Amino acid sequence: MQGRVAVITGASSGIGAATARLLAAEGAAVALLARRAERLEALALELEEYGAKVVAIQADVTDPAAVAAAGEQVASELGRVDLLVNNAGVMLLSPFEADLVDEWERMIDVNFTAVLHTTRVFLPALRDGGGDVVNISSVAGRVVFERSAVYNGTKHAVGAWSEALRKELAGTGVRVGLIEPGVVATELTTHFSHDETKAVYAERYDGVERLEASDVADAVLFMVSRPPRAAINEILLRPSAQKP
Ligand code: NDP
Repeated sequence: MQGRVAVITGASSGIGAATARLLAAEGAAVALLARRAERLEALALELEEYGAKVVAIQADVTDPAAVAAAGEQVASELGRVDLLVNNAGVMLLSPFEADLVDEWERMIDVNFTAVLHTTRVFLPALRDGGGDVVNISSVAGRVVFERSAVYNGTKHAVGAWSEALRKELAGTGVRVGLIEPGVVATELTTHFSHDETKAVYAERYDGVERLEASDVADAVLFMVSRPPRAAINEILLRPSAQKP
């Protein structure tokens, strides 16, 4: 990763922060995007301590103007982009008939629409010299669950779009890969507002040792560190004890 520049969305916690740590430890310069600026600043300080070049950018990825401004900041401070990790996401599970329309819209905006806008902004820089787009989907992009209709929809959309983009960019030097984690120990599940679903979710994975965020970061690093001739299109990784 020496000399490469990585842009990571949702870098303020969980999988995004772990990916930033790993890529920076491997020598990449990293641009960290998320809304919680204080978290990004703390992570930037930590990474700078071991010599990494880091740019922390407070940005709501659902705001196309903020993402465009982030693109300009990365260009002026880091000069290039070799890797985009579309990781920012929210999972707000509930039964469809609970009618939590605001939460459906947030999931669609963050998990899918923002991925399109972010990729649109950084793709010209990736095409200039080649690089990788890594999209963090989920096992929920393959397997559907009750109380997960909209989240499943957003992750299936990411998977379909990602595979079409891979085909469109094949031969341009830009690889597009999809990573589909099973359940990972992060903050993601703490944001549900539907209490009964919190209990159902906890019960579904009772006794399952969660993946660590660093396990997913390892998958990102493996995907992007292949020689240019080899593209890992998709990685599905579950906790060993996870069935669905
Ligand atoms: P976290 O909740 O720990 O991290 C989510 C990240 O997304 C945070 O950094 C958050 O930052 C960011 N984010 C959310 N909304 C926005 C926004 N509007 N603008 C910018 N950033 C935003 O969860 P994970 O690390 O688990 O999730 C990362 C990805 O992994 C998601 O796409 C998720 O769907 C996927 N995933 C997670 C699994 C799990 O079990 N944990 C399983 C499969 C996939 P901030 O709040 O500071 O903006």
